[in-house]
Amino acid sequence: MNTPAYIFDVPKFTARLKQFSDLRQKTRFKLLYSIKALPIPAVLGAMLPYVDGFSTSSLFEAKLAREVMDDQGVIHITTPGFREEELGELVKVCDYLSINSLNQWQRFSEYLGDSIKAGIRVNPQLSFLNDDRYDPCRQYSKLGVSIDQVQGLEGLSGLHFHSMFGSENIEPLRETIEKIEAKLANLLHQLEWINLGGGYVFTDQAMIEEFDKIVCRLSDQYDLTVFFEPGKGIIGDAGELVTEVIDLFESEGKNIAVLDSSVSHHPEIFEYQQSPTIKEAVSNGIWNGILAGCSCKSGDLFGEYNFPHPLQIGSRITLLNVGAYSLVKASRFNGINLPDVYLKKDDGKLELIRHFEYSDYKKFWKSE
Ligand SMILES: *Cc1c(COP(=O)(O)O)cnc(C)c1O
Repeated sequence: MNTPAYIFDVPKFTARLKQFSDLRQKTRFKLLYSIKALPIPAVLGAMLPYVDGFSTSSLFEAKLAREVMDDQGVIHITTPGFREEELGELVKVCDYLSINSLNQWQRFSEYLGDSIKAGIRVNPQLSFLNDDRYDPCRQYSKLGVSIDQVQGLEGLSGLHFHSMFGSENIEPLRETIEKIEAKLANLLHQLEWINLGGGYVFTDQAMIEEFDKIVCRLSDQYDLTVFFEPGKGIIGDAGELVTEVIDLFESEGKNIAVLDSSVSHHPEIFEYQQSPTIKEAVSNGIWNGILAGCSCKSGDLFGEYNFPHPLQIGSRITLLNVGAYSLVKASRFNGINLPDVYLKKDDGKLELIRHFEYSDYKKFWKSE
């Protein structure tokens, strides 16, 4: 295997999806995978037996999801800003469409008519995140209609909300539902469905069981189909990025190991100034150094780590838990090629599914 390379572990992400199998059987629960986290058709195809459909945020995502599924399964779409000229195609491809503002509801809901189930994205205005950059309930939020303004909308079939990111605890969901019930119980009785968004990462069976209870109660009490559309919770820990050390030197007494990758291959490291988990690193090692990317940006750094032995040219360095929001945000900044993409199959074998080369780079910039 050449580096850099992403490896997406099929048994791992299908196991995540299978955690919801019981729930899908015993109640009107529908599991959608939010494809924006990683929209590779081979990955979506491997998910098909375990999902009811896909959740999307644009026409392109919706079309890709529809191509993978043919006419099986459902597609939900929401975006802060539908384009009028795309609505005709969207109603053909999608089954559920949640509008983000009252203004777009007034302009588009009549047009949507019976050909699609029209919902509204509600902002529950209950904030659990302390970073505004990924808090949908931040002040002056652009995401959804205030919970106090969602009443009396003609033709409304469901409610959508998505107000969390990366939560390993189900409590925020419970509190959010409580608030929605307190304010909108009458409306819930009139609707057909509710979409709980994503934003949760299930760490243990107890969390799944708590989630099951919430879904069953919503479904029983209000006679609703309940959608859940996680992205990172499904694919996050099923992806790794394997890189190699291509240079080693000291800078003012600190070891620097330059990798054949860059933060452009997982921009959230730079965006949120996080240090990824490195498989080969240890907390107390004999060798310490900064893992740096090979682009021109001085902040192209993965972080400072300890290793049980000195790194060498050719040492493999593996970033763990980078399945979500990595490849989909990756760029060829500096003309550095994108990593290869492998699927790790049920038998443990690696299958190369994508390889990029100079012609791909050139095609992006030049039409002929
Ligand atoms: C991003 C997003 C999701 C998936 O979020 P994760 O944090 O990856 O689970 C689901 N629904 C909506 C509306 C989103 O914007």
